[in-house]
Amino acid sequence: MRAIEDVARIVAVSSLFETDAVTPDGSEGPPYYNAACRIETELGPLPLMRFLQSVEREIGRTPSAERWAPRPIDLDLLLYGNDIVETDELTVPHTRMAERPFVLVPLAEIAADVVHPVLNRTIAELAEEAGDAGVRRIAEAGWDGLTGDGPG
Ligand code: ADP
Ligand code: MG
Repeated sequence: MRAIEDVARIVAVSSLFETDAVTPDGSEGPPYYNAACRIETELGPLPLMRFLQSVEREIGRTPSAERWAPRPIDLDLLLYGNDIVETDELTVPHTRMAERPFVLVPLAEIAADVVHPVLNRTIAELAEEAGDAGVRRIAEAGWDGLTGDGPG
């Protein structure tokens, strides 16, 4: 998020969560950290995604054939206003967000009333439906120390 501050204003940050690994075959893996943030930026969706990928590389993510393997960082562009983008490189809203509790639980904290522009349902509704199995809050909002509404 400190890197993102170079190109955007961070408006809201969710609590920090620890979540069980989700793999297609249900195999076990180390848990992940997950959080969502809301930003305001001049960058369009594609330049923003490319910027996020450059940050992923800076932090040490290397391109891996193993899609579901543990990685040091994963920055996803979940929503971009009401925009719908469908290209080889970028899909917004993020394709699998609506079925992932580890995305919806953090996102619902900062965007409950936002309407998913493809499904036409609010994030709160989608989160309610997905449930919160395997998602544990481990730090309250403000843990990031960036948005000024917490102890940080
Ligand atoms: P996931 O985020 O689903 O765990 P990966 O991070 O491994 O999967 O997938 C990265 C790929 O997804 C990138 O090559 C990127 O081009 C593509 N992609 C498509 N839409 C998005 C998006 N909205 N946010 C982030 N990456 C996206
Ligand atoms: Mg990703």
